[in-house]
Amino acid sequence: MPGTYDAIVIGGGHNGLVAAAYLAKAGRKVLVLEMRHLVGGAAATEEVFPGFRFSVFSYVVSLLRPQIIRELELPRHGLELIPLEASFLPLPDGDSLCRWEDPHLTRREIARFSPRDAEVYTEFGLAMRKMAWFTKAIIDQPPPAPGSLRPGDMAELLKLGRRFAGLDRDMLYLNLQMLTMSAADFLDRWFESPVLKAPMSVSGIIGTYLGVRSPGTAYVLLHHYMGEIDGAYRAWGFSKGGTGGVSLAIAEAARSFGAEIRTETPVARITIKDGSACGVVLENGDELSARVVLSSVDPRRTFLGMVGAEHLPGSFVEHIHRYKFRGSSGKVNLALDRFPDFSSRPGSGPHVRGDIAIAPSIPYLEHAYDEAKYGAFSRRPYINAVIPSLVDPTVAPPGKHVMSCFVQYAPYHLKEGAAHWPDHREAFGDTVVDTLAEYCPGIKDIILHRQVLTPWDIEQTLGLTEGNIFQGELSMEQLLFLRPVPGWSRYETPVKNLWLCGSGAHPGGGIMGAPGELAAKKILTGRKV
Ligand SMILES: Cc1cc2nc3c(=O)[nH]c(=O)nc-3n(C[C@H](O)[C@H](O)[C@H](O)COP(=O)(O)OP(=O)(O)OC[C@H]3O[C@@H](n4cnc5c(N)ncnc54)[C@H](O)[C@@H]3O)c2cc1C
Repeated sequence: MPGTYDAIVIGGGHNGLVAAAYLAKAGRKVLVLEMRHLVGGAAATEEVFPGFRFSVFSYVVSLLRPQIIRELELPRHGLELIPLEASFLPLPDGDSLCRWEDPHLTRREIARFSPRDAEVYTEFGLAMRKMAWFTKAIIDQPPPAPGSLRPGDMAELLKLGRRFAGLDRDMLYLNLQMLTMSAADFLDRWFESPVLKAPMSVSGIIGTYLGVRSPGTAYVLLHHYMGEIDGAYRAWGFSKGGTGGVSLAIAEAARSFGAEIRTETPVARITIKDGSACGVVLENGDELSARVVLSSVDPRRTFLGMVGAEHLPGSFVEHIHRYKFRGSSGKVNLALDRFPDFSSRPGSGPHVRGDIAIAPSIPYLEHAYDEAKYGAFSRRPYINAVIPSLVDPTVAPPGKHVMSCFVQYAPYHLKEGAAHWPDHREAFGDTVVDTLAEYCPGIKDIILHRQVLTPWDIEQTLGLTEGNIFQGELSMEQLLFLRPVPGWSRYETPVKNLWLCGSGAHPGGGIMGAPGELAAKKILTGRKV
């Protein structure tokens, strides 16, 4: 049929773009349809105020799969990653802790709080790297399919089982502890200093509606250890020009292979004939046809919004209703007139050229969660801030800075109801600035502009249901062969020729590109198009 595409990809977030690039590279005729005026989804850079370019949503990169960088030749298309130099924890009593790339410097810093922890920290890092190596194999392939009798699936399951059985006993125990424990309890087994445990524990709660003492958060901690930059594990970095740089490089790669990308083109419906997807209907009423349709939009919007429950098995629809979003994070982006000095360690040295955590203690973090549990934003929240303009002058005018603050908790489900978030937006922004001012006393005087994003705003802007930053919580019951629905975790869906390729599919959220890559490769190896 003239005008027919081999594949239409709904959503031009980084995963949709990765899927499009792989399919186009394999010679398929591909169209990406993005509703916003720019590509990137949650990985986008926007000049929100003149001269100030914000990584509006996601702000650091680490999990982007190295094979995607290589196979799509992303550096040639403009990708440049700048490693973070440190993790800085200012404390309310005027002290601070900085963890550096250099292990000797880190050990010296930790020893001020606990000589024992300083020794254990290296051992812990090695154990986590080993675990991450084990887990890496899981995130770089479709999840196993337990219960499937297909010879290929059974062989994969066996391979994974052998890998698991090959772990030494200590690693096996560690693995089981991570799957079942809370981040705080897990860290208690290793460390004694509260000053060290608090900033380490927060990796376990990013993007979840759980607290550092909630069982299951230890695994998420590992998820954040799995990243690598140029082969260096646990390395996080800025993308030059903001995180949108990642998406633009992928989009350029996709275009270089012949993919067509249309922005400001929202999809209203997926066309289904005889149980099979055969194209889309745009919001303007135009119809486009394709041999396969891939959706990088979250599972609830894809199935209940664009497909319709009437085309799906009842039990599948029930699972989609039960799939948990529960967004819990907000973002405050600040345009600053000059560098904001932290009283515990003044100056714009290397300590602030990485991430800055406002996470003074485990009780502080757990208290922040307590408020969220009952439908209010935390009055003293956990903040993860970065000032990328210190290492990337392209994002702010000379002498000025951008400060990006990721904030938890900002529960989507306010006790008044999510739709009331706009009434609380400025109060939430004030809370974040007041909290920062306790560590950075001059900050209020140097804020030129601020952008406050609540989970409700994240949902409105990006279409991320309930503002969940990962298109669904990364909790154990929604990972691996359970994501998004048991039995439907390998990108195929109950609708023939409709595939998932966004963070709602295995292995989940983060600027990883893995769901896009794995979905495209599965379509290609299965000769589905
Ligand atoms: C505030 C915030 C902070 C984060 N911080 C980090 C971080 O620092 N590091 C990290 O690794 N990860 C971070 N994440 C998570 C990460 O950014 C996401 O998991 C990832 O970018 C999701 O990519 P995706 O392509 O799967 O989906 P998305 O980015 O959600 O892309 C989906 C796309 O579909 C489009 N769309 C939706 N509906 C339609 C429609 N009907 N028609 C056409 N297009 C449509 C959307 O506009 C969007 O562009 C953060 C996320 C948020 C929100």
